[in-house]
Amino acid sequence: MNIVSKIDDWQAIRKTLTHQKIGFVPTMGHLHAGHLSLCESAKRENDVTVMSIFVNPTQFNQKNDFEKYPRTLENDIELLRAQQIDYLFAPDEKSMYPDDYAFQLHETAISRELEGEFRPGHFNGMLTVVLKLLNLIQPSRAYFGEKDFQQLVLIKKMVTALFLPIEIISCETVRAEDGLALSSRNSRLNPSQREKATQFPELLTSAFSLPQIREQLTSAGFKVDYIAEKWGRRLGAVWLDDIRLIDNISLEKV
Ligand code: AMP
Repeated sequence: MNIVSKIDDWQAIRKTLTHQKIGFVPTMGHLHAGHLSLCESAKRENDVTVMSIFVNPTQFNQKNDFEKYPRTLENDIELLRAQQIDYLFAPDEKSMYPDDYAFQLHETAISRELEGEFRPGHFNGMLTVVLKLLNLIQPSRAYFGEKDFQQLVLIKKMVTALFLPIEIISCETVRAEDGLALSSRNSRLNPSQREKATQFPELLTSAFSLPQIREQLTSAGFKVDYIAEKWGRRLGAVWLDDIRLIDNISLEKV
């Protein structure tokens, strides 16, 4: 695996990859089996696999969340060596924003609801960095998890709206044995929070109505941002103390 941190270096490498199909997996690191499942699909379907690790400041609407986001690059590199991907692209913040954040992509519809209502600016930051990464990597296919379903919907719409010649592949959510969706933020849960967290996917998949799910979550000690149904999914976001969890399931599974 080649580790590339300089944009110039990547661009020189990219010029040599003229005929190969590139599969790209963008992440913010602190890798887990969910990220690795995206890698597996990318490896299976392409000639060259590239993962990026970049904790993007512009998609964090709370400074505290950005600062506390787990950064474990050395461990991630170890994990990835076993995966046999071809390139890890890990640029620094300054080089990804040579414009000092002057240019940003704005979506004016879906980015304002659900997650967007509770995390103002999040999706515009995410779309801006994903567009930059897609322009740099120039993949044939890019892989995103259903875990962040609204993100997936927005990225597909961005690729269509901006005529990007890239196929967006969605990958199923990987869960722990007890049903909790794997997330980099889960490592911040203490044992009792981790135990309680399983009630979130349990209630999301239950036969209760949306108000009943909200009520049950609240009485179990969660603070609920939203529980809603859209795009054939039931989606939710909750807080356990200062840790925010999101999840969604197909309505066919309810
Ligand atoms: P993140 O590092 O959290 O920004 O996630 C990078 C990519 O991995 C995104 O496309 C996520 O949707 C995806 N992802 C995160 N968690 C999971 C999971 N549990 N299962 C499948 N994909 C995931």
